[in-house]
Amino acid sequence: MTKKIAVLPGDGIGIEIVAQAVKVLECLNADFGLNAEMEQGLVGGSAYDETSSPLPEATLKLAKEADAVLLGAVGGYKWESLDISVRPEKGLLGLRSELELFANLRPAILYPQLAHASTLKPEVVSGLDIMIVRELTGGIYFGQPRGVRELENSEKQGFNTLIYKESEIERIAHVAFETAMKCDKRLCSVDKANVLECTELWREVVERVSKDYPEVELSHMYVDNAAMQLVRAPKQFDVMVTTNMFGDILSDCAAMLTGSIGMLPSASMDKNQKGMYEPIHGSAPDIAGQDIANPLATILSVAMMLRYSLGAEALAVKVEKAVDDVLNQNLRTEDIYTQGDIKVGTSAMGDAVVAALKS
Ligand code: NAD
Repeated sequence: MTKKIAVLPGDGIGIEIVAQAVKVLECLNADFGLNAEMEQGLVGGSAYDETSSPLPEATLKLAKEADAVLLGAVGGYKWESLDISVRPEKGLLGLRSELELFANLRPAILYPQLAHASTLKPEVVSGLDIMIVRELTGGIYFGQPRGVRELENSEKQGFNTLIYKESEIERIAHVAFETAMKCDKRLCSVDKANVLECTELWREVVERVSKDYPEVELSHMYVDNAAMQLVRAPKQFDVMVTTNMFGDILSDCAAMLTGSIGMLPSASMDKNQKGMYEPIHGSAPDIAGQDIANPLATILSVAMMLRYSLGAEALAVKVEKAVDDVLNQNLRTEDIYTQGDIKVGTSAMGDAVVAALKS
């Protein structure tokens, strides 16, 4: 059956890196029996320039009708002074909420070939393989009321609301336990239950859901300790699950353990395994258009798409193996280059992955 992929390159390096991921998908179509139809759409600043909206109706329709969405990145200097309602990031947030992508899966895997690229000692990070499951459509980023109000003495007061329903916690907990079942069957739930009632409920619901997964060893950790442990001894973790804001912060921290932001993919899933797949980095306007961006995070996002949304595990493994192969050939884009490696550009790296797939 033909699968439909909405391809949304976005802005900055998004355009260059997504082009490499498309090469990979085209190769899988031509040589390995993937039957995927790709259609491109506009999102972010480039969409605003053409349509006055960072998320045009046509793009939303395309994304809703697709089995999966491949996204590059949005944003850039050019659009920074726009009103917040039409900034490029609104396109991304709009896609997440319109598609109800409540579960964000972010692996932090250290390729042994890149152990020296981490700022942590190699013995602390080598072999690192963590999956962070972050709740993506609830919590303090969406809770009402929110805003900035003026008090009687004319002083301003900012406020946001941390809010979770049991059903929201339950569904992300199920995703996390299912994920743990496919990993080493250890799940650490991160909260601040000693201070925040909302995450006291989080802990209670996660405990309850754990009864459905007796094989998974569940532990709980306060977020401040989790941040410390991620840097002190990150290999103690297998799968972590947490709220929207805690996950935002902890997943960036975990990403940096691996040394390069250009290597890490992510998936944002709805309840039916439909997902949006994107590298964790942004549009890197400082290097856009120079053919130096690392496309491997986006190519690894394709592997996640094959695994989670297209039901093609064997092809996912093939893509991951091809990435491993190019690293073994010492091919490196500038962000992961050290002396003695072979420096390649964005497009040449994409070609090398395709060549490795075919070999
Ligand atoms: P960034 O991730 O774009 O860049 C941070 C640093 O990492 C830069 O020095 C950049 O050159 C480098 N970098 C990022 N990706 C790389 C790659 N694939 N290869 C090599 N180097 C890479 O973050 P930023 O600079 O804070 O933000 C730039 C723009 O991206 C902003 O407009 C921001 O809002 C947007 N942004 C978008 C997303 C997204 O679309 N998901 C995420 C984060 C930031």
